[in-house]
Amino acid sequence: MPNRSNYIGRFAPSPSGPLHQGSLVAAMASYLDARAHHGSWLVRIEDVDEGRSVPGAAEGILALLYTLGMKWDGEVLWQSRRKHVYQAAAEQLGAHLYPCGCNRREIADSRLGTAPDGSAIYPGTCRHGLAPGKTMRSLRVRVPDPAGHADLIAFTDRAAGPVAQHLSSESGDFVLKRADGFWAYQLAVVVDDAQQGVTDIVRGADLIDSTPRQIYLQRLLGVPVPRYLHVPVVRNPDGEKLSKQTGALALAPADECQAVEALRASAAFLHLPLAQASSVGAFWQAAIPAWANRIGLPLAAA
Ligand code: GLU
Repeated sequence: MPNRSNYIGRFAPSPSGPLHQGSLVAAMASYLDARAHHGSWLVRIEDVDEGRSVPGAAEGILALLYTLGMKWDGEVLWQSRRKHVYQAAAEQLGAHLYPCGCNRREIADSRLGTAPDGSAIYPGTCRHGLAPGKTMRSLRVRVPDPAGHADLIAFTDRAAGPVAQHLSSESGDFVLKRADGFWAYQLAVVVDDAQQGVTDIVRGADLIDSTPRQIYLQRLLGVPVPRYLHVPVVRNPDGEKLSKQTGALALAPADECQAVEALRASAAFLHLPLAQASSVGAFWQAAIPAWANRIGLPLAAA
């Protein structure tokens, strides 16, 4: 589809399992927002954490997106093929990074608490050099001192409104290269969004707490800060985010009728009122203008 605006959006699934109703909501919201803005929609396979990638999952996700009528623009980007790019970004960050020799237990023992995403806040043990007797395990990025203005990262989410986080107390110095040798999601996502020219990030609200760290890295790397829209995540009856680990069922529509049903269920979750559609094409023909009419309104106000 031709890009008639400067909007570039993306869907960035981690191939740790098949597409399910929860990931379809994120895919749909990003697709609708891109198409409603007459923009491009890219797909990036976030297989940077190769230990969690399930063989064949990425191909399955791509095939299903295609069946569901979500055609992406350009080439699919695979993070596992871009290690040299993350290495170059780390080199650019230079003295902002430092080697850390602490393991999880040592960090948890310091009892500084956990960041909103559940990771333990780093006490800064190796900030001024590896502690005696330690060898490098990971690479961390230094966050600003609590006293300075730079510590508070604020942005306006299109759904949640103003969001602010004190990096020093709510995240601490965070890992960009992990002890298992893989680059961390936080670095890869920032580098790729910048390199792909992404202007608008639409994704699940479980990632809103990661956004200040990503904005911090964007500032350090001197790349633009995109607009953000975090949409609600689908939860199971126990209130857990739907994922393979929490028992999400793989979407596997057997025919077009089931494909339309899956699309309608995700649209209903996004409060998009839609009449019955007889085909995947008819669904999108109704859904894109319905989303366009709602841009700027609260998500539940349809
Ligand atoms: N790869 C992440 C996931 O599947 C999404 C990352 C993002 O959209 O920034 O949850």
